[in-house]
Amino acid sequence: MSGAERLKQVACAAIDAAQEQLGDVSREIWCKPELAFKEKHAHKILTDFLDEHGFQTERSYKLETAFKATYGSRADGPNVSFISEYDALPEIGHACGHNLIAEVGVGAGLGLMAAMKVAGKPLGQVTVLGTPAEEGPGGKIHLIEAGAFTDVDVAMMAHPFPDNDFRPVALARLSLDVVYTGRASHAAGYPWEGVNDLDAAVTCYQGISCLRQQCKPDWRVHCIILEGGVKVNIIPERARLHVGVRAPSDEEMFMLKDKVMNIITSAATSTGCQVEHKLMSKPYSSMLSNEVMVGLFEKNVSRVQPPEVPTRPGSVFGSTDMGNVAHVVPSIHPNFHIGGRAVNHTRDFTGDAGSPMAQEYTLQIMKALAMTAIDILTDQERLQEIKQAFAKSMQNSVCAAHQRHGSLQRFPFCNVSVDHILKAMTELECFGTATDREGMYG
Ligand SMILES: [Zn+2]
Ligand SMILES: [Zn+2]
Repeated sequence: MSGAERLKQVACAAIDAAQEQLGDVSREIWCKPELAFKEKHAHKILTDFLDEHGFQTERSYKLETAFKATYGSRADGPNVSFISEYDALPEIGHACGHNLIAEVGVGAGLGLMAAMKVAGKPLGQVTVLGTPAEEGPGGKIHLIEAGAFTDVDVAMMAHPFPDNDFRPVALARLSLDVVYTGRASHAAGYPWEGVNDLDAAVTCYQGISCLRQQCKPDWRVHCIILEGGVKVNIIPERARLHVGVRAPSDEEMFMLKDKVMNIITSAATSTGCQVEHKLMSKPYSSMLSNEVMVGLFEKNVSRVQPPEVPTRPGSVFGSTDMGNVAHVVPSIHPNFHIGGRAVNHTRDFTGDAGSPMAQEYTLQIMKALAMTAIDILTDQERLQEIKQAFAKSMQNSVCAAHQRHGSLQRFPFCNVSVDHILKAMTELECFGTATDREGMYG
């Protein structure tokens, strides 16, 4: 038996031994759903668990409900980071199953730590990173900006889904808060004195509905009206919408945003209202799954899971701030089946994510993640392959945009500095000459 093989068995055995406790962690979080940046209970449950199991745990790491738990040292080898998410949705609870993501993160960390302890020599570092607020505000983007990923070599997480899909399509996304303001008036006595903001909101909503016919199949625009008047006999003087804009690349997302902005402003013009808009959070980038890491993960899943598990490769599942992480360090975000057929963000999925049937699949996936980390920690060449694949995927994105626009100006790579991209590209000799490189800044 090879060294890595023995370590994999140790990791899986450690996960099996802790399965009841891991199930409790998940259930505790599921029973008390907390919204973005308010996940105090989940933060406590997870950090207590990691503390108890011998991790060096930093609570409220850079954000109040974020945490970092480590074992080992990066001086001895790569730092593999498992990501835990744990925020819920308003009214429908853990309808995205982030309680299971939390469990996968700490369980994979636990398994890997057990393997590192018996390796006979230091292999590197395992970090479990608790990242709050995925459903909207982009906790990982705040953590990237605060430097939480500067010492991370690779990052991994797994997300519950109706089907297994290890290379899911996560769209780039931005969300707009739009407020129309006008003038109140008596709706029966002096309606002509009013300027009706609900009309602007409805016109905007309908304009977006018409735009959808001209959207590419993988573009998404969605919109809700949050405010549209306070009393039926008052002409509404304030209306508010939230608009989500998504596309497969940052570049297409900004193209689509331009179209949506035309609709937002023209609705104000046609109704005589004023309009203000702002970004609700920093934009989410599309997901770049590291091909070498996904390949290793797939092989490891096949060791612990029967092949008949429902699979739907390449499906669009929404957006994630893990996309921003994937533009900074090599990353994977496989989606995994949890036993039911319900889809995310439904009440039925909330039920599936809290049910005992999800546990079997969740344990299999955390084992596969721990084993993937062992593949990386025990073979330095593999890490080089992973970094090469990362640089290449960055190069492909940037070169495509460069060819189309001759500069990066319309391709801001949300939250990733131009220097970072240039470094990745220079490593792969993407540029012919220094002049080409200067042209990138456009
Ligand atoms: Zn979600
Ligand atoms: Zn989610």
